[in-house]
Amino acid sequence: MSRRGELEIVVVGAGVAGSAMALALVRAGFDVALVESRPPSRWHAADEVDPRVVALAPDSAALLDELGVWRAVLAARASAYRRMRVWDALAPGELSFDAADRGEAALGWIVENRLLQHVLWGALNAPPEGAGSARLLCPAEVVAVDNEADGVAVELADGTRLRARLLIAADGAASPIRQQLGIGTRDRDYGQRAIVAHVGTERAHEATAWQRFQPGGPLAFLPLVDGRCSIVWSRPDADAARMLALDESAFLAELGCAFDFRLGAITSTTPRYAFPLKLRLAERHAIGRCALLGDAAHAVHPLAGQGLNLGLRDVRCLAALLARAQQRGGDPGAANLLRRYERERRSENTLAARGLDLIERSFGSEAMPIVAVRGLALSLADRLGPLKHLLGDAAAGRL
Ligand SMILES: Cc1cc2nc3c(=O)[nH]c(=O)nc-3n(C[C@H](O)[C@H](O)[C@H](O)COP(=O)(O)OP(=O)(O)OC[C@H]3O[C@@H](n4cnc5c(N)ncnc54)[C@H](O)[C@@H]3O)c2cc1C
Repeated sequence: MSRRGELEIVVVGAGVAGSAMALALVRAGFDVALVESRPPSRWHAADEVDPRVVALAPDSAALLDELGVWRAVLAARASAYRRMRVWDALAPGELSFDAADRGEAALGWIVENRLLQHVLWGALNAPPEGAGSARLLCPAEVVAVDNEADGVAVELADGTRLRARLLIAADGAASPIRQQLGIGTRDRDYGQRAIVAHVGTERAHEATAWQRFQPGGPLAFLPLVDGRCSIVWSRPDADAARMLALDESAFLAELGCAFDFRLGAITSTTPRYAFPLKLRLAERHAIGRCALLGDAAHAVHPLAGQGLNLGLRDVRCLAALLARAQQRGGDPGAANLLRRYERERRSENTLAARGLDLIERSFGSEAMPIVAVRGLALSLADRLGPLKHLLGDAAAGRL
């Protein structure tokens, strides 16, 4: 608690971004309240691999390591991918990355969202000695926010009122808090749904993340520890509905064909789920004593697996600024601190979101000149060492 019995910081939303933020703050010595409306489903090693997985870049793994949870993730269930292959259904050329060429053990890891949330919540419940504390309010829904000059008042659905010097909204792409704060968004509805499932393949996945661009949306095969692949198949809305309705053998046949049978026939699938895809960029990342973080600030197309990685970069940036303010006895909700956070993160997030949008538009096009240019671009990027290295650095979060 800080002055007048206020909390120092309230984080709303305990998905992966909000939980990581709360943990970073606790480890920096802050007392934090973390408010989450949905009780998380627990993760057990004996469970089937959760349908929602993310590709984590090395800088995200490094952050989780600094937060003391990465070893637990690796020990539980994470699949390192050592190679990437990207190609186009309509043009020749292929872009490939190999961790060995970069002198690294892995290009990234495929991890279940639920496992990440599970280890982060575990760490929040057992902070290291000398750290601050986390008060986990769950299930509890924030229904109103009053962003005042000297503090933020937060009202929960059960009538509880919290007051803090800083509110961090990590409440996801629909972010009710962002709406209450009157922060607008720039949106693009892709008119696509991402179909996700875990599939068995005739041949081994070779610890490789595969992506084929095709008209209508990209198809990714991400390697899982148990030898299967997790697919993310973006399709126009109507076609996604058709795919979900197909019987299993028809779905497996279409999927194999869409993947060029790179791993032979597709032999099995778990139930399929679909997620609507939208680009949504908040016009501000901070206002008054409130900051936006993760999907609340930027929801992007999953084609390069960057969404959560960007959210964890927000966490690193804001946590570092707040830790510095804490050491100086400064105000965590100070306008200059939040302005700096906004300046640093909004430009990178906007660049990433627009870049991914451009890739989606150009690889979705069937116009011949564009097809020819992107075939050339893929081949050039693959052959030009420095450019390829730069692309690899960007994907790894090292730029
Ligand atoms: C198909 C697909 C594949 C993807 N693949 C990747 C990938 O490979 N790599 C990658 O980096 N990213 C990927 N992403 C993106 C990634 O999943 C998201 O960026 C990430 O999950 C967002 O995390 P978050 O914590 O910001 O938000 P969320 O996970 O949405 O969490 C928000 C939390 O806030 C809570 N909440 C909301 N409102 C309130 C309220 N009023 N009061 C209290 N709590 C509230 C919600 O219950 C929720 O738990 C993918 C996305 C999709 C759809």
